[in-house]
Amino acid sequence: MLPTYLECSLDAAHHVEPECLATVCPHDGAPLLVRYPPITLDRATIAARPYTMWRYREALPVDDTEEPISLGEGGTPLVRARRLEAMLGATCEILIKDESQNPTGSFKSRGMSAAVTRAKKLGASALVAPSAGNAGGAMSAYGARAAMSVTVFLPKDTPEILIQECRTYGADVRLVDGLIDDAGKQAGAFAQETGAFNMATLREPYRIEGKKTMAYELIEQLGAVPAAIFYPTGGGTGLIGMWKAFDELQAAGWIDGRRPKMISVQAAGCAPIVRAFEHGDEKAERWEDAHTAAWGLRVPAALGDRLMLRAIRASGGTAIAIEEATMADAMRALREREGVDASEEGGAALAGLQQMLAGGSAFDGPVVLFNTGSALKYAPR
Ligand SMILES: *Cc1c(COP(=O)(O)O)cnc(C)c1O
Repeated sequence: MLPTYLECSLDAAHHVEPECLATVCPHDGAPLLVRYPPITLDRATIAARPYTMWRYREALPVDDTEEPISLGEGGTPLVRARRLEAMLGATCEILIKDESQNPTGSFKSRGMSAAVTRAKKLGASALVAPSAGNAGGAMSAYGARAAMSVTVFLPKDTPEILIQECRTYGADVRLVDGLIDDAGKQAGAFAQETGAFNMATLREPYRIEGKKTMAYELIEQLGAVPAAIFYPTGGGTGLIGMWKAFDELQAAGWIDGRRPKMISVQAAGCAPIVRAFEHGDEKAERWEDAHTAAWGLRVPAALGDRLMLRAIRASGGTAIAIEEATMADAMRALREREGVDASEEGGAALAGLQQMLAGGSAFDGPVVLFNTGSALKYAPR
């Protein structure tokens, strides 16, 4: 359905009209959230459609007849992890939402499918974004499909395979001396100079819309909200998107007021959200000297910090930092015991659960681990 307006995430009274290439709230620079007319989701109608994220098109920014820019993203499996349950002596079911099976090998494809669809419709002809790797690959692929020119700013130590992924989809890759926020500044300047539309995380409102479909699928697959979601967190679009989706699903009558505990898992070498959560802060300070082999988690400062912290607290969740070696062990456990193409980020999610169970936490229902991307895109370790 087409949006009615875009709402400022800091002050809901600020609205932006949706039929333009929107960035952030013009009043305070906060991310914008997409609002729709009341969403009706008929289970049978949706179940009869192909299993991609666009089966929830009533809750996505397209009109009835519009063809989205799609590669079949979403529709990923939710698999029970019985061998991990046994390994951890868990009394709750452990489920893995395996996002490695998306086009371009990560859940970034969901966000980019929605955002590129919208940018194309609203008249953009060129796209730019900074990326730790996976967002750039996804934007390059969807940009190619939409016949748009794509420029990606990547930190210069990004694994070669991720750089080549962007290049081979035809994107112009610029390597930056620094981290993703430095790349973000250069991408912003490039957008200003050339008129390319900036697709950086939360600098446009539609990547959240694509990523929120993970929650739609989860509810359709499980039939209820899980007890907890373990989410490897970088820029936070997935966490923020799913949190938004639960409100939409409640309004549509699919769930009641209960929410899963949202558990944000970060790398100990880059854990700005964990630190802010522990300090009781409303927003996060930049993490200096960020380092982790989980490239998707190497985000020292996120525009969505307040939104993430709000969601984690409102859900009764928590935020956990994981050491590199623990993350790598957990990644191997996911691969060796479940055959899931887990990346370091997926390993972080499992390690977060392990840490909570070891600390005596119990869950009164299934817990869901997000394996956000494939390991095959990273240099072998
Ligand atoms: C981008 C990325 C993340 C972080 O996702 P956000 O929703 O931006 O927090 C996690 N894992 C992988 C593999 C990623 O590419």
